[in-house]
Amino acid sequence: MKVLVINAGSSSLKYQLMDPATREVFAKGLCERIGIDGRLTHKVPAKDAKYEFEIPMPTHSEAIQAVLDALLDAGHGVIKSASEIDAVGHRVVHGGEKFASSVRITDEVMAALEECIPLAPLHNPANITGIKACEKVMPGVPMVGVFDTAFHQTMPAKSYIYALPYEFYEQDKVRRYGFHGTSHRYVSARAAAMLGKPIEELKIITCHLGNGSSVAAVDGGKSVDTSMGFTPLAGVPMGTRAGDLDAGILEYLMGKHGYDMKEMMTILNKKSGVLGISGVSSDFRDLENAAKEGNQRAELALEAFQYSVKKLVGAYAAAMGGVDAIVFTAGVGENDAATRMAVASGLEFMGVKMDAEANNVRGKETVISSADSKVKVLLIPTDEELMIAMDTAEIVGK
Ligand code: ADP
Repeated sequence: MKVLVINAGSSSLKYQLMDPATREVFAKGLCERIGIDGRLTHKVPAKDAKYEFEIPMPTHSEAIQAVLDALLDAGHGVIKSASEIDAVGHRVVHGGEKFASSVRITDEVMAALEECIPLAPLHNPANITGIKACEKVMPGVPMVGVFDTAFHQTMPAKSYIYALPYEFYEQDKVRRYGFHGTSHRYVSARAAAMLGKPIEELKIITCHLGNGSSVAAVDGGKSVDTSMGFTPLAGVPMGTRAGDLDAGILEYLMGKHGYDMKEMMTILNKKSGVLGISGVSSDFRDLENAAKEGNQRAELALEAFQYSVKKLVGAYAAAMGGVDAIVFTAGVGENDAATRMAVASGLEFMGVKMDAEANNVRGKETVISSADSKVKVLLIPTDEELMIAMDTAEIVGK
């Protein structure tokens, strides 16, 4: 089965045409500057080829059409007819409390997605536009929505409730939702496979550390807690996002500097995190280079990030009454040996013993704890596209 995976953002759209059964990726790429001018980067892995085109993309419809044209092109295409696309899987950021798993997209589902817009005003409209654009360009092709929030819907109320007046939960749906669910689900399943044990018997802490980061406690294959919250602004400090902070700071800074709420949110989303602390960069490579050259704020940013992740590892082990495996994934988790070491070292008291040599790797599935470590520490590259394609094939195949 050939599944087209679509991840639509406000001005960009990533795509991948793949067979989830064989995991072969036929083509993948990115539309950028949608609504501005339009640029398509199209890659064909089998030929190790990359193509770039300037194509006007006033809306997502033209972007999807450009993707379809690229897939069908006589030169750089990978299919002969659009009918070869059996299904489309869409990444959707927020499914609210309505979606605890992936679903076939119907009119009712579209209406429910519209209802979720207030929960993710920046992301969901782009996802909806992407779905509508596909419906227009590929009418009749079955489509599936895969939600970032769905995996975390198994969290118990004590994990997701905020200590606010209860009516804000009941009436306004203010609660912890958690994000990166597709990634946490994928790597926890891979961890169980690597350990050769049923996931139902495992307590796993998954650390998705990238530009945006979140940590999840996965008990018996179910998410029981996670660090992102009502929005992806919560949890550990990120590239540019503040993570958890004392809400009292907002009033203090807004009063002192005369910021309005929009300015304050821009600071928290775009100017904070490791960029804010270091003043250097949101990219961990830059921070490590700066720290090596003696930049103390870059060093502090790294330390604050690593310490924050380490504390969650301890917290989630306590929450689950133990831990069998700790998983690192995403850009930083997959590539940054120093951060993995900083997070997972000093935890011998709870049975975690790192192997410095084994940890000196990048981007491949491997065990990075020592042979006698009671808790296994694993590096597992995430693959959200594969997970979306697998869900899509399963749901459409039914
Ligand atoms: P996103 O959240 O945007 O999907 P990724 O998971 O791709 O982000 O992570 C991107 C981040 O990964 C970069 O900002 C960078 O900090 C980090 N990164 C990538 N390669 C390395 C590396 N070799 N060493 C340290 N950090 C890295």
